[in-house]
Amino acid sequence: MIADSSRPTASSENSVSNTTEKPAQTHQESRSRTSENGFFVDRNAPTNDGVDLARIESAVRSILSAVGEDPERNGLLETPARVARMYAEMFAGLKSDPGRHLKKVFDEDYDEIVLVSDISFCSMCEHHLLPFTGKAHIAYLPSGKVVGLSKLARVVEEVARRPQVQERLTQTVADLIEDRLSARGVAVVVESTHSCMTMRGVRKPGSMCLTSAMRGIFRDDPKSRAEVLGLIDRAS
Ligand SMILES: [Zn+2]
Repeated sequence: MIADSSRPTASSENSVSNTTEKPAQTHQESRSRTSENGFFVDRNAPTNDGVDLARIESAVRSILSAVGEDPERNGLLETPARVARMYAEMFAGLKSDPGRHLKKVFDEDYDEIVLVSDISFCSMCEHHLLPFTGKAHIAYLPSGKVVGLSKLARVVEEVARRPQVQERLTQTVADLIEDRLSARGVAVVVESTHSCMTMRGVRKPGSMCLTSAMRGIFRDDPKSRAEVLGLIDRAS
C-alpha cells in the first residue's frame, strides 16, 4: 500500500472516523458466527441459498452419461452432489451486491494514491465453465473518503464468484470503486491464467491475460496513468 504512515489512513480499518454511514445490512447478518461443527463462519461471504442443487445434480448425471460414463459407478455416486455444492460456492456472488462492502467509508484527509496489489482470486470463465485464476491490483485516488483495504479484496472476491469474463470483472471492480467512493481516479489491473487456454483448445500453459480499467484522472491524464501503472508494476 502506498500511503503516508504518519497519520491514520485507509489501513486503519477499525479506526473510528466521522463516518455517517452504517455498515451494509444484508441477509448474511442473520447467520451465526460459528457453524454447527464449530468452524468460523465468514459473515461477509456471499451466499447463494437460492441455487437449485438437485437440478445441478441431475445435469451432472446427464453429462456423465453423455460422455459414456456410468453415474451409478461407485466412485461417481457422490460426484453430482459434490459438483452441485461446488457450483453453489463458485457462483455465490451471482445475486449479491459487491458494492455493499464499500458502504462503510472513513472521512480522511488523504488525497494521494492508495494501492492494494496482489489480490488473488479464482473465477469461472463463462464460455467454458472452467476456472481462471490470478491477481488483481487496485489503485484509487480518494476524494475525502477511504475504505478499509480488505474491503477492496472482498469486492474482487465477490465479483469473481459469478460466471465471468476477465474484461467484465476488471471493469465492474473499477466502476464500483469509482461510484461508491466517488474516487477521483481508479486503476484496476488484472492478470490471470485461464484454464480454457491451458488445458483445452490451443493448450498454452503459462500464457497470461492482462486487462486494465482506468477511470477518472487515470483515464484522462497520461501522466497520472503512467504514475499509477508504475506503482502497480513496482508493487506487484
Ligand atoms: Zn474460457
